[in-house]
Amino acid sequence: MSKYAPIKNLKDLIQSFSDEQKCRDFLVQQRWNGCPECPYCGSDKYYIIENGKRFKCGNKECYKKYSVTVGTVFHASNIPLTTWFPAVYLITAHKKGISSIQLAKDLGITQKTAWFMLHRIRETLANNDGLLLKNVVEVDEVYLGGKAKNFSKSKRAALKELGERGPVGHKIMVIGMLERKGNLRLVVSGKSDTREQIPLIVDNNIDKSAFVMTDGDGSYAALKNDFAGHEFVNHKQYEYVRDGYIYTNGIEGAFSLLKRSIIGIYHHLSPKHCFRYCRETEYRYNTRKLKDGERFEMCLTNIKGKLSYKDLIKKTELSASLLINPVLPPLVLNPKIKGRAICQIKNNRIVAEYPSIISASKATGIHPASISKVVRGLRKSTNGFIWKYI
Ligand SMILES: [Zn+2]
Repeated sequence: MSKYAPIKNLKDLIQSFSDEQKCRDFLVQQRWNGCPECPYCGSDKYYIIENGKRFKCGNKECYKKYSVTVGTVFHASNIPLTTWFPAVYLITAHKKGISSIQLAKDLGITQKTAWFMLHRIRETLANNDGLLLKNVVEVDEVYLGGKAKNFSKSKRAALKELGERGPVGHKIMVIGMLERKGNLRLVVSGKSDTREQIPLIVDNNIDKSAFVMTDGDGSYAALKNDFAGHEFVNHKQYEYVRDGYIYTNGIEGAFSLLKRSIIGIYHHLSPKHCFRYCRETEYRYNTRKLKDGERFEMCLTNIKGKLSYKDLIKKTELSASLLINPVLPPLVLNPKIKGRAICQIKNNRIVAEYPSIISASKATGIHPASISKVVRGLRKSTNGFIWKYI
């Protein structure tokens, strides 16, 4: 368990993490549960060097030096952790997120730096990938992107060239799936004429035993054969709730959260980054019962992974400004995957469930061997979490 008192608010956070070493110590706790593990060879033997700033691997064949930020989103960053930490707090605590302009003002950095930091932090926000939604699941789709009539002349001309497909032809379609009283999943499907992808996405994210609720759109008609049950409300006939339990109001509420953060905070949505905004909304929704400080800590347990500036701004094949790029996030969990289901516990509460150790590791970035040790009772906890077989 964490030796740190829970963070209550921003002031508390700034006081608790007033210098780099304090931040690094906290990351060692969150990333490795206090025991450094070599990111190059996985050895848990280490020497403390440079007054605790870095470590040296104790494995004779490796002996590499590393710091706690190696291989994380903070890797090779010129920005001090004392700036990163409040940024993580601000993006995870604000109900609608924070814009790069606002973050730049709040932390005294440039907008470009703030923009990059925000995207890097979003990389860590995937907390439930690979877990199939169960019970009653509402499914709906939303179209993101501005109206064509508000586009510049050149953009409209380019759109025409690509062949316009009605009023939503240039927009990006996001499929939302919400387990009632459970988690939200948003999957970017790409341009809106890819409706044939809907059944595939739904199949990949929802358990076969689930009861699926949709609107009356034809794309959902086939679902009744794939799931335990399928009911729909006919919006075209102004039907929104039937028999008291058939409705899609939950997922529509989640969409309004996504839309409000795009309209109110980010104003402009770059299509190629769309899945990151979706991930951010997902994270915020799925951690809605946590306190701000807990959400901050959870984010820091999942810092593994790098996103270089070069990768971030990389132009895709189509013009980036218009892009109709079917950015498919890592959505696929093969339901046939073998393994025993496990749950992730923090402060005596189940935070998530995973079908196997491997999928838990993929979703959290925690080494599978560490999780395995905990479930087998060889270790008390890892990265601040306890793991148990369900
Ligand atoms: Zn090593």
